[in-house]
Amino acid sequence: MVQTDEESKVKKNPDLQPPEYKARKKIRYQNMGYNTDKHVIYVTNRLNILSHYSKHISNSNIPCCNCCGENSHVDFLGIDHIAGKNQMDSEPKLIKLGYSSKLKGKVLINWIMENNYPKGFQILCHNCNVAKGLIGNNNICTHETIRQEETFARMEEQSSFEL
Ligand SMILES: [Zn+2]
Ligand SMILES: [Zn+2]
Repeated sequence: MVQTDEESKVKKNPDLQPPEYKARKKIRYQNMGYNTDKHVIYVTNRLNILSHYSKHISNSNIPCCNCCGENSHVDFLGIDHIAGKNQMDSEPKLIKLGYSSKLKGKVLINWIMENNYPKGFQILCHNCNVAKGLIGNNNICTHETIRQEETFARMEEQSSFEL
């Protein structure tokens, strides 16, 4: 069905939606069944992945961010492509397993599980993930840049003491 500009504008702005539209949308979401078995499987698989990489990369028994340590809730965490989503398209080991940067959401989660948690991923909180992905940050979270600067500053301080 072709959508007119007017219709898409209404869809994007809840204030413009007539009450019937909102009610229909609510029913549709309810019917999608967020409590169905499929959703439970998704949540379980996601938790397994968060736990696995946190254990192996951050040495933590509970899911946490590998950069800042955030561990208050799994909703704040996500799966990060360490080398970058698109860069991983040219990683021979991952290509062999059928990796593609097009894998997203549930499909990515299923792929990671089916391939027994391949290397190349880590868990980051959404804050660190966004900072890492900002243009000009070269795939490094700002926390890491600050840590490096502090280390250099300390090293400089120490070397000037020795002079
Ligand atoms: Zn973090
Ligand atoms: Zn960070």
